[in-house]
Amino acid sequence: MTLDELVRRVAGVLPPGAVITDPVRLRTYECDGLTHHRVVPGAVVLPESAEQIAAVVRLCNEYGVPFVARGAGTGLSGGALPRTDGVLIVTSKMRRILQVDLENRRAVVEPGVTNLAITEAVREHGYYYAPDPSSQQVCTIGGNVAENSGGAHCLKYGFTVNHVLALEIVTPDGDVVTLDADDPGYDLLGAFVGSEGTLGITTKVTVRLSRAPQAVTTLLAAFENIEQGGQAVSAIIGGGIVPAAIEMMDALAIAAAEAAVACGYPAGAGAVLIVELDGPEAEVRRQFAEVERVCRDSGAFELRTAAEPEERAAIWRGRKSAFAAVGRISPAYIVQDGVVPRTALPQVLASIDRLSAEHGIRVANVFHAGDGNLHPLVLFDDAEPGAGERAELVSGRILDLCIEHGGSITGEHGVGVDKSRYMPKMFTDDDLDTMQLVRCAFDPRGLSNPGKVFPTPRLCGEVPGVRKGVHPLVESGRAEQF
Ligand SMILES: Cc1cc2nc3c(=O)[nH]c(=O)nc-3n(C[C@H](O)[C@H](O)[C@H](O)COP(=O)(O)OP(=O)(O)OC[C@H]3O[C@@H](n4cnc5c(N)ncnc54)[C@H](O)[C@@H]3O)c2cc1C
Repeated sequence: MTLDELVRRVAGVLPPGAVITDPVRLRTYECDGLTHHRVVPGAVVLPESAEQIAAVVRLCNEYGVPFVARGAGTGLSGGALPRTDGVLIVTSKMRRILQVDLENRRAVVEPGVTNLAITEAVREHGYYYAPDPSSQQVCTIGGNVAENSGGAHCLKYGFTVNHVLALEIVTPDGDVVTLDADDPGYDLLGAFVGSEGTLGITTKVTVRLSRAPQAVTTLLAAFENIEQGGQAVSAIIGGGIVPAAIEMMDALAIAAAEAAVACGYPAGAGAVLIVELDGPEAEVRRQFAEVERVCRDSGAFELRTAAEPEERAAIWRGRKSAFAAVGRISPAYIVQDGVVPRTALPQVLASIDRLSAEHGIRVANVFHAGDGNLHPLVLFDDAEPGAGERAELVSGRILDLCIEHGGSITGEHGVGVDKSRYMPKMFTDDDLDTMQLVRCAFDPRGLSNPGKVFPTPRLCGEVPGVRKGVHPLVESGRAEQF
């Protein structure tokens, strides 16, 4: 069989023990954070270098076998869902920080390095890596690049794409190439970030390091209801203040966090807002006074301030644990991710409430309020017949609401396998064809993470303007110029 033969050859180019075919061990990799999609991979490989990944990819090409990259498997859209007929390339053995260059404020790391490990490596020198997904203790920088991951502090500092200066990648046909922000011509680095493993595999990442701010102050404001919190968010941003982070949780999310980590948020709060300000001390002091005033004017009944790291960690504990915490109040749940314009937040949240009541499905709301990125947690009991389907329905209707209000089906968790069916709701066939022209330029044979992002994968020959089979650049041997 093709896969068996391929696996034998792959074993020949990797170190001993780097190929997994044992059915029990393969099951470890059958899903990512989106656990209701499961596929046991055909084989798993654990390479230690770009050259080894390139060798595996070249062999996959020779046999026409698809491959999927995987970092830590914390993705929430099924992006790292494997294929039974394919090879899963896991970067967990590529965890070296290769270079820290403080003078130029950059670090070069392997793709399996965790997000937080970068900050830990430079913290003592007064630097940090800014994008901070809540999963940062475990998720990898390779996964962050693939998903263009965000986090609480991305409102002020930007997403992963704003902090990646260069990438070394293995192209889908097995070449090792570099994409650099300074390259003239098209922004191929920008195209690659957020491509969810469909344009090749990241093997090295050069990240921007940020200087730790002089002062940081965190405020927790408790409101009777979510509308008051929303009003405060609009007034803060409308007033010209861009906080480092501005996060909101509703009553159900607060209850879950309380049950899980006893975060001690004010009793009786229908919503809490966490506002973090950072920068030069005088500016933070001035903005803080303004934020406090706005929160009180919007109806906050309790305000707590943290200036010390431990106090700040206490305020963040509830928010950072919110996704996992809902496991304490519900046997199963879907983490949704959608975006609405900030001004539409009150309307959309009211509609989510109505949907929840109509279908008898509880929804806890946690969101990056500053950029309108909602994370509704749709709770259900998987032992109850039909509950899973109702939860899926509510979850999908929430995305419809996001689109109707001019937003998006994903803010930071990606499209993956889960949301490809919603792509035609946002994009026309022509839009999707155009996007797939990019895909075809990198991956004419469609072997790199197929079945993700696009609902109807098209071969290159089916996209107008591109010849069937092999892209002209690849055919002429110039693919390395990508
Ligand atoms: C509790 C929790 C909280 C989270 N909070 C946030 C948050 O605040 N913000 C946010 O943006 N996300 C968040 N996430 C989602 C997730 O952590 C991110 O998407 C993260 O970037 C995934 O990294 P990973 O290493 O786990 O990637 P994986 O899940 O292994 O893979 C994700 C995608 O990246 C691709 N990929 C992985 N490595 C490579 C590589 N080297 N080259 C090419 N493609 C690759 C995979 O094929 C897949 O498509 C959260 C998840 C959980 C479980």
